[in-house]
Amino acid sequence: MDPSRPLASSIAWAEGRILAVDPPRPLGRVIDLRGQTALPGLIDAHLHLALGGETLLQLDLSTARHRADFERLVAERAATLPRDGWLIARSWNEDAFEERCTPDRTWLRAAGDRPAVAWRMDHHACVLNDAAIDLLAARQDLGVDPPGGRIERDGTGRPTGLFQEAAAWKLVNPMLPSPSLEERREAVRAAQRSLASLGLTSVGSMEYASVVRDAIEPLRAELAVRMRVTLLDRDWPLDLGYATRFANDERLAVIGMKAFIDGTLGSRTARMLEPYDDDRANRGLLVELAERGVLVDWIRHVRAAGLSPSMHAIGDEAARLALDAIDASDAPGAPPARVEHAQTLARADIIRFAGRFASMQPLHKAYDARSAATRLGPGRMDRFFPFRSLHHAGARLAFGSDWPIVSPDPILGLAAAITGLDVDGQPCRVEENLGVHEALAAYTSGAAACLNIDAGVLAAGKLADITVVDADPYACDWRTRRPRVTMTLMGGVVTGGVVTGGVVQDR
Ligand SMILES: [Zn+2]
Repeated sequence: MDPSRPLASSIAWAEGRILAVDPPRPLGRVIDLRGQTALPGLIDAHLHLALGGETLLQLDLSTARHRADFERLVAERAATLPRDGWLIARSWNEDAFEERCTPDRTWLRAAGDRPAVAWRMDHHACVLNDAAIDLLAARQDLGVDPPGGRIERDGTGRPTGLFQEAAAWKLVNPMLPSPSLEERREAVRAAQRSLASLGLTSVGSMEYASVVRDAIEPLRAELAVRMRVTLLDRDWPLDLGYATRFANDERLAVIGMKAFIDGTLGSRTARMLEPYDDDRANRGLLVELAERGVLVDWIRHVRAAGLSPSMHAIGDEAARLALDAIDASDAPGAPPARVEHAQTLARADIIRFAGRFASMQPLHKAYDARSAATRLGPGRMDRFFPFRSLHHAGARLAFGSDWPIVSPDPILGLAAAITGLDVDGQPCRVEENLGVHEALAAYTSGAAACLNIDAGVLAAGKLADITVVDADPYACDWRTRRPRVTMTLMGGVVTGGVVTGGVVQDR
């Protein structure tokens, strides 16, 4: 990623920073990569680390292919739990089952008397067991569906256990125990291990100040992945005291504040310039600060305090409002603003991204491709994820995953941006594909610039953050053969991967 030296055969570092690229002779300890490729450490510009870590501690049902698998996994987990503790599972998907069926409360029998919940992979539905249904019934009349939700019932009127949409997140979610302090910290540790093993060296993480204070900052010294935190706290009027007084260092820093302008395409709540093609009376919602008309006040406050504003904008009108707010708050020396998602953009707004950060998630394109065609209609698909047009307009692309919404594996994100294939393997807007170099830049130098990290380029003086892959990413056909991460180094220390990928010798 250093244009003055795009290729090299060795790197020397000390005390966490790169000393030289292609030094005249090796010194000290040598890691021989045996023909593998060292890239600048990969960076995810937008995820939710603490929340993602919590999902890692839950029972993963994504491998269940039939009812017997599901029940065996529940039984195995139940055996490890205290008698009265909740069993919380996630990621079942009836589309992955070999025979057509949907789980109900009987699938969770192995949980015994303890309450149990199993979330569908998209978190838009869940199944409760009898004990959990009884707990919920004591708080709530389960005879009527909540607005926007559905409680499935059997012939006798008893819930089958399946709760959908608002019934899942408005009734079931608040009933679940919140994790203890120790569980929160364990979740952060699990997330760090997992992200490092995927080749990530830094992440931009969206967190509440209370979570940073209680569960992340106490672990600062053991973080294996650098964190640049954007705070989700957005009570108005804003309190910027915690963010501006935070003790930033290379491992952990608070860089900015987050605002939400609209919702999502899938739920038709993303704010569009014109109505949805499959709901002609609706063009989505403005939410929170945008709905109250204080977005410009908010962004001025944030930038004046030396913090980077980050705005969730998925619909084309939401992106336009974000750009208007950035323009209205530009001042010499003001910290850069970030537009998160930017999933649909009117042509006139693409050029307005010149020199601006677009923080985008290529895997969201792969997941949303199917529903976008019906939401936007064929006439507006040219607004959907215009990666290449943004790049040509001079936008500063930073890629990420939004984990735990989708996988944080950066190789999957790179493949989506490079091939344009959606999750069903169908091509979507391939005219907007990026080349390998541009996609890698968005996961390295682009994301580093977006998050203000002194990395993303392998050059003397930069942080020694390195991701090793087993194949030359420029030579791979990404449709058939993706590189595999074999080693991750943060500040020159191995944090993830398989060290046997290289040979360590002392000289
Ligand atoms: Zn997010």
